Amino acid sequence: MTFEYSSAPESKAIVTIDPVYKLFIGGKFVAPKGGKTFTTINPATEEVLAKIAYAEKSDVDKAVKAAQEGLKVWSKMAPSERGKYLYRIARIMQERAREFAVLETMDNGKPIRETRDIDIPLSAAHFFYHAGWADKLEHAGVGSNPKPYGVVGQIIPWNFPLLMLAWKVAPALATGNSVVLKPAETTPLTALLFAQVCQQAELPAGVVNIVTGDGATGAAIVNHPGINKIAFTGSTDVGKLIARSVAGTDKGLTLELGGKGANIVFEDAPLDETVEGIVNGIFFNQGHVCCAGSRLLVQENIQDELLEKLKRRMSQIRLGDPLDKNTDIGAINSREQLEKITELAISGDTEGAERFSAACTIPAKGFWYPPTFFTGVTQAHRIAREEIFGPVLSVISFRTPQEAIEKANNTPFGLSAGVWTDKGSRILWTAKHLRAGVIWANTFNKFDPASPFGGYKESGWGREGGRHGLAAYLKGAK
Ligand code: NAP
Ligand code: MG
Repeated sequence: MTFEYSSAPESKAIVTIDPVYKLFIGGKFVAPKGGKTFTTINPATEEVLAKIAYAEKSDVDKAVKAAQEGLKVWSKMAPSERGKYLYRIARIMQERAREFAVLETMDNGKPIRETRDIDIPLSAAHFFYHAGWADKLEHAGVGSNPKPYGVVGQIIPWNFPLLMLAWKVAPALATGNSVVLKPAETTPLTALLFAQVCQQAELPAGVVNIVTGDGATGAAIVNHPGINKIAFTGSTDVGKLIARSVAGTDKGLTLELGGKGANIVFEDAPLDETVEGIVNGIFFNQGHVCCAGSRLLVQENIQDELLEKLKRRMSQIRLGDPLDKNTDIGAINSREQLEKITELAISGDTEGAERFSAACTIPAKGFWYPPTFFTGVTQAHRIAREEIFGPVLSVISFRTPQEAIEKANNTPFGLSAGVWTDKGSRILWTAKHLRAGVIWANTFNKFDPASPFGGYKESGWGREGGRHGLAAYLKGAK
């Protein structure tokens, strides 16, 4: 006998979405000079949620000037006072957590279970954590007289809209910088709600400025001479473009880019727990995760047993309405991203890998992709090399630990990895030989504001979070 779940939708009543949003500059919502707008949709229903102001170069210029004014006030303030504002913001985010969670789910397509339990609480945690550092920077091991860069330009992607904002804004403010931030085109709404939180917290005008727009808006931030540092999270291609633009200037730069994380399962791993870790590693947030465990490296003698268990587990994953509290997998963030995932998965078929997809009912409207894995994947296949950024796992087998390391490191990226084994010594040995910024042992996709996050090679430069993340916002600090 099977028990069906009744739907348990979260109410949208807590959220008020304005028909049109302006730019947040100098503590006020202001219309863009050119009067242009674009729309943001709910990717689960394709319904238009709001019109969003499009910031052109002149609007970015205005935001940078406002940030320079904000900086004067912010940099004169006692660090402990700056800390109080960050605590206030963190508390308001907690108070308004449900509102943020519902809005994020509507604008992004990710399940309410994740926004409610992960994105929003972690965002508040980043503000709490950094609030504590604001008046203790001399003790952070980053030099005796740490100084902020000044005005920081921050550009973020659509996969964790509020969380990426928190990762960027909280350390920048704690270290005494002011900010011009651009959210992604498809997910601007929680950043604009955050702007309201800044007003509610009575943050001095110009300390945080939010300009909405597209890649050209981002480029205008990168190239503005009044910006002292760029912090970017997004694709490796755009990261490379930015690195080229910033080269030869005295702007600071941190880049958090793509990944192709190896989740390595040794023959002595506890298989049921490992299956949970594999599912969390690749299907969390529809696989739109830079540090996803998108390559499963499994020791050959346990592959069949592990994949049987994985198939059984995948058949229980519920795909559908992101606002339903039972939903595990929500909508793909955009049609464009769905096309990218579909194209890469088809290359898996044509290059000879074998596909398994969970049998899910795909809703009639919106953008969806069923949880999928490929076996028979070789190192040369595109699905083994390129970031899919969707719920698609490539399974590759190995025989010896040495072979696992060689395969895991055979990638232009170096962001994350996982190790599953019963032996502590094997965890340490494997971690030592992996070229990845974050390595999880017998778990996956765990985040904490105190833990630095970042990559090697084409996964980026610099770290976010922890003491290392503070250094990235302090001039000359290491
Ligand atoms: P993306 O195209 O690079 O976009 C990221 C941000 O940059 C967006 O705000 C985008 O604006 C903006 N942008 C686009 N072109 C620009 C330009 N020429 N100059 C300045 N800014 C520009 O990446 P995405 O497709 O949104 O995000 C997915 C990628 O991000 C994946 O590769 C993923 O691995 C990576 N990511 C990395 C991390 C990490 O921490 N390492 C975290 C999350 C995501 P629009 O929104 O208008 O395109
Ligand atoms: Mg949207």
